[in-house]
Amino acid sequence: MAIDLNQTTSRSILTRTSGFLRSVTTHSLQPYRGCTYGNALCGVGCYVQHNRLLTHGQRWGSFLDVRENAADLYRSQVERERRWAETRGGAFSVFMSSSTDPYVPQERRYRLSRRILQAMLESPPDELVLQTHSHLILDDLSTLQALSQVCRLRVHISIESDQQDLPGLPPAACSVDRRFAAAHTLRQSGIFVVVTVSPLLPIVDADAFFARIASQADATVIDHFIGGDGSPDGRRTAATSLPQAMEQVIAGSTRLSYRDEVVDIARKHLPGRVGVSIDGFAGSYLPA
Ligand code: SF4
Repeated sequence: MAIDLNQTTSRSILTRTSGFLRSVTTHSLQPYRGCTYGNALCGVGCYVQHNRLLTHGQRWGSFLDVRENAADLYRSQVERERRWAETRGGAFSVFMSSSTDPYVPQERRYRLSRRILQAMLESPPDELVLQTHSHLILDDLSTLQALSQVCRLRVHISIESDQQDLPGLPPAACSVDRRFAAAHTLRQSGIFVVVTVSPLLPIVDADAFFARIASQADATVIDHFIGGDGSPDGRRTAATSLPQAMEQVIAGSTRLSYRDEVVDIARKHLPGRVGVSIDGFAGSYLPA
């Protein structure tokens, strides 16, 4: 599918968080507008597609704006935004990214995320949460190792299921094995790694799945589309083709009670290292 790709400049790159993200970090940072994984499995239920201010009515996955000046903007904004965060009495913390993936395939060509991470090395946030669905994050391993020495770095690798495919839906952009391998490599390199199971999809062998997470990551976060997609009762996601496919794999997996069942299994394998929904994204884990 052709992607409407544009090289653009922005006026701002560090966005003060509002809404649910406010309890997670003080700022969010999006190297790109849009996400080319929107055509893959994660794009079917992607919460961002419902944000019409962001999509401008374009189909999710069909466009990508490359914010060419992102790293320079970070340099010019960082001290002002750090001061603003400090006036709120908190640390200056950045979520990268909440409405795109820093490692879309086009990152290999434009290296926006790499350049931003290099700018962060010069003037680091107190905390950085870097979230991706892709093993391409390993391209920046040495930079991430250096960043982990100068700020609290948490890498979120999204792995929503042990299933590669759901019936009738496009395949995942990056295989489950490759994402686990990326988590493992990052952790072996001394980086704190969280596997985000978000939105939770049907997990056929939950015991094996969370045992694998326990061996290859530091923690996990489990988030169901009910309560996670920003609408009452998950009705935004209910309007997509995701729930029907989920029910075909595990009946009842579209109910919130499924999340609670899965959380109980996860806690057996990762005591004290399981976060649920927004609290988990904020780095808070249930007691052992
Ligand atoms: S990678 Fe993230 S932002 Fe991109 S389509 Fe998937 S869920 Fe949405």
